[in-house]
Amino acid sequence: MGKPFIQRLPLKDEVLSSWLTRRLNQLGLERAVFDDALVKQYPEVAAALTKDPDFPEGRFWRKAVAGLVAVPAEGLQAIGWPSSPWFLAPGCRRSACLLCLSEAPLVTAQYVHELWLQSWRTTCPMHQLPLVEVPAMGASWTLLSRQSRRLHGALMRRPDREAARLIEGWRKVPAYLREVVFSAEVQIMEAWREHFANERSGTAASGSLLVWHDLLAFCASSWSTTASPAIATQALPWMIGSTYFRCRNVLPCMEPAPSLQAFRTMIDPAARRTCIVAVMDALYGLSEKRIVGLKRQPSWGWFRVLPHLPDAAWAWLDDQARAWPAGWHPMVGRWRNMVRG
Ligand SMILES: [Zn+2]
Repeated sequence: MGKPFIQRLPLKDEVLSSWLTRRLNQLGLERAVFDDALVKQYPEVAAALTKDPDFPEGRFWRKAVAGLVAVPAEGLQAIGWPSSPWFLAPGCRRSACLLCLSEAPLVTAQYVHELWLQSWRTTCPMHQLPLVEVPAMGASWTLLSRQSRRLHGALMRRPDREAARLIEGWRKVPAYLREVVFSAEVQIMEAWREHFANERSGTAASGSLLVWHDLLAFCASSWSTTASPAIATQALPWMIGSTYFRCRNVLPCMEPAPSLQAFRTMIDPAARRTCIVAVMDALYGLSEKRIVGLKRQPSWGWFRVLPHLPDAAWAWLDDQARAWPAGWHPMVGRWRNMVRG
C-alpha cells in the first residue's frame, strides 16, 4: 500500500484538488454527493471551489471541507495558499514530471505537486526533466472515461518507461536550448525574490518581474487577427521537433492588449517553454558576443521574432517599456535597431 492510501491529510506539496479527490476516493464518496452537500450547506465555499479548485478564496472553506470529509480543519492549514499569482489558470493544470509520478506504486497513488502548477515552470527541479501534459493524475485518473484511460494507459501506468524516452530525447535537444530553459526558471525565481523584497503589498509585478510579465504575455499572443501560433514560435530553430517545444495555435489577437492569461492558459508545458525561450533570449541575448553572432543570422532566438512584429506590437512594447525599471526600458529601442540594422 502506498503512502497516499493511508494518509488522510494532504501530502507535503500536494494541491487541494488532488488531495480532495484522493480523500473522497478513500471514503468511497462520490464527487457529486460531496458537491451537493457542499452547495446545500456552504454555497459560498462551493462557488469558491468551482472558481478555483486549488486556491479558493477565503478561509472558511477549510472548516467546511474538513467537516464533510472527516479530517481536522487544522490539517488543511498549509494547503490552498497560492504562492504566486502566476499559477496556471484553473482547468489548465495538467503538467507533471514523469519521474515524480513513477515514484508512486500505482496510478491512483500519484498526486499533483504544487510546483508543477507554476505557469513558468516547465522542468522538474528535482529531476531536471521537462514537464509533460497528462490527462489526469492520482485519484482523478479513475474518473476518466474508459476510452481515455485506454488511450493514456501506457503513459500513466508506466511513467518510468515514458520518462526514459523523454530523458533520451531531451539530451538530444541542443545544449544551448536546455541551458536557456533552466536559466530562465532561475531568472524568474530571482525576479520574484526581487519583487517580494521591494514591493510587499499587492500582486502587481514590479522590477524585472514586470518585464518578464509583459514579455511572456507578448510572446504568448499571435499578434495576428487569425488563429495562429504564438509569436514566440518564430524564435525556435528549424527542425527542432515538437516534443519539447510546441507551437499550437492561439486565439486571434483582436486588439493590441495581450495579457498573462494567454500564457497561463497554455496547458501544454512545451508551448510555454517556447515562450520562455523567446523571452529569455530577448532579455539576456544582447551581449556583445551574441550581437556578433546575430549578424550571421542565428538559427534561433528573439532576433528571429522581431521581423514578424506588426506596428501594433511595437507600439505596445513602447507603451509597456515606459513602466519598466531604468536598466530595462531602452531595450525596445535596441530591438528596433536590430531589425533596421
Ligand atoms: Zn520530478
